[in-house]
Amino acid sequence: MYIDSHAHIDAPAFHADRHDVIQRARSGGVELILDIGAGYLEEGTIDVALALAEQYDFIYLAFGIHPHDARWYDDRWEKKLMELSAHPKVLAWGEIGLDYHYDHSPRAVQQDVFRRQLQLARQRRLPVIIHTRDAEHDTLGILRQEWQGSGLGGIMHCFTGTEAFARACLDLGLYISFSGILTFGNAEALRRIAQTIPLDRVLIETDCPLLAPVPVRGKRNEPFNVRYVAETLGRLRGLTPASVGQITSENFRRLFGLLPEEGD
Ligand SMILES: [Zn+2]
Ligand SMILES: [Zn+2]
Repeated sequence: MYIDSHAHIDAPAFHADRHDVIQRARSGGVELILDIGAGYLEEGTIDVALALAEQYDFIYLAFGIHPHDARWYDDRWEKKLMELSAHPKVLAWGEIGLDYHYDHSPRAVQQDVFRRQLQLARQRRLPVIIHTRDAEHDTLGILRQEWQGSGLGGIMHCFTGTEAFARACLDLGLYISFSGILTFGNAEALRRIAQTIPLDRVLIETDCPLLAPVPVRGKRNEPFNVRYVAETLGRLRGLTPASVGQITSENFRRLFGLLPEEGD
C-alpha cells in the first residue's frame, strides 16, 4: 500500500476521467492521496478538490499559493486560504516556496508571499509543503527565519537538491519527498542522495499530472504510478516496494497525526 503525498488530481488534465484515475490508484494499492490544490487555484478547481475530499475518505487536501502564482496573491486570496485551511480534510498549507527557474512571479514578490504563508500556516498550526527550484539558498534563509522552531514540520516536495540542502531540510524538521524524477536515466546524482536520507524521513509522490516516472515517462502521470517511485527507492535501499510503501506511509501518517491510536 502506498501514499501519494503530492498529487494534483483536481487539475483540468483529469476532468474527463478523474474517477477512473482514482479507481486505478485504489486497485494499484494507493491507500491515501494528498491532493494539492495549488497551481490551479481557481474557484472551479477548488470546488473539485473539496468535492473529492467529500466523496472519498482517503483523499486529503492542501491549499496554498504556488510561487508561480505569487503575483496574484492579495487579501481576497488570503481570506479564501484561511477559510480553506479550517476544512477538516486539509492536512497542510501548500504548495508554497520559491521558483527561480521559471520566474513566473518577480522574486521579491515570491519571497514576500512565501513568508506570509509560512506565518499563516504557523497561526493555523499546519505543516507546510515546500516547492523550491533553483532557489535553495533563499528558501533555507526564509525557512530558518519563519519556520524553524515552529515544531510543525512539513515536506520538501519533489526533492531534486544537493546533499547539503537535504541535510539542511532534515535539520529544519522537514521530510524529503521523491517523485518520478528519481527513476529518470539522468538522475544518478539524485539517486545517490536518496541513499543517504534517513528512512524515517522519506516520502514518495507523483506530482501528477506532470513528471510521469519510467516506464510511463512522457505520458500523463497519475497516482497509480507512485509504485514506480517506490520500486526505484526500494532498489536503492535494498527494500521491497511493499516495505518502501509501508515505511513511507507510516512517515506520512506520523507527520500529519494520522497514525492509529495505540492501545494501552
Ligand atoms: Zn511543486
Ligand atoms: Zn505540485
